[in-house]
Amino acid sequence: MIRRHGSRIQHLVNVSGGKDSTATYLLALESGRAFRAVFADTGNEHEWTYTFIQQLAARTGGPEIEIVRADFTAQLARHRAFVLREWPRMGVADHIVREAAALHEPTGIPFLDLCISKGRFPSRMAQFCTFELKAQPITLQVVFPMLRNGPVLQWLGIRAQESAHRAQQPRWNRHETGCMVWRPIFRWSVDDVWALHRRHGLEPNPLYAHGMGRVGCMPCVNCRKGELRSIAERFPTHIDRIERWEAIVAAANKRRAATFFPAVKDPMDVERPGTYAGIRTVVQWSRTSRGGRQYDMFFDDQGGGGCQSDLALCERSDP
Ligand code: SF4
Repeated sequence: MIRRHGSRIQHLVNVSGGKDSTATYLLALESGRAFRAVFADTGNEHEWTYTFIQQLAARTGGPEIEIVRADFTAQLARHRAFVLREWPRMGVADHIVREAAALHEPTGIPFLDLCISKGRFPSRMAQFCTFELKAQPITLQVVFPMLRNGPVLQWLGIRAQESAHRAQQPRWNRHETGCMVWRPIFRWSVDDVWALHRRHGLEPNPLYAHGMGRVGCMPCVNCRKGELRSIAERFPTHIDRIERWEAIVAAANKRRAATFFPAVKDPMDVERPGTYAGIRTVVQWSRTSRGGRQYDMFFDDQGGGGCQSDLALCERSDP
């Protein structure tokens, strides 16, 4: 039993469905300690990741993964009220106001609801998705309730080899939420991670066997050119879905425009020079060996995918 004060540490493992957080889950299992495991569902994940998460406990003998989702019902209602009150005063046509207001009904897909409520997609420069879709729901729905019962230690599947940024993180630190965080595989190589999977006879998330370098949003707003090309080749329905989301988010905001990669202008569009490119155009470009200069500049600058969060809320591509 967990004592209220003074006392027994509660262990929590953040699981993303990727290899590093899975290795951390397996390590927690080997430690013999009781622990909880949590996955933040963005609604922008591959279906195999959901299956992997749902089956992990049965395949390893560990605890079930608790799934948390952000809920944007209140934000959507506030923004819908703003649309109905303010847009007519700004001269927006009635049918546009009505269409946008109707699109502010919650869909239950956290990523899409967040974008509708913000009137845009996140980006590397405005990466509100990590906090809103992952950090905040885990903190509010799991960490804070646990902290009311005593100290919490979060186990994070971060490795120094993933990136220069992650290499600078400490093995241990106190997080602003009030819990302690620990990075038990910090010095591990990728081979160490796979060796632990093998020791447990655990097949990793099948996305790796299908050529994906990381597990997380599909795609991530930070994805690289090659990753986008791979997604389009192997999982084209996810590109179709993003195209549908672009149309919905565009119809729900006053600019009547929204693109998944907002920093990319479309140098090939002679009809509308300088307009932002939708996902379909960016995918076409990703299949070229040499693309437009704007695209190259943007994608060269991408950090390798995944959340930049210090809580390892999704995986980054290995360099
Ligand atoms: S994986 Fe990418 S798109 Fe998804 S929440 Fe993290 S930064 Fe945002």
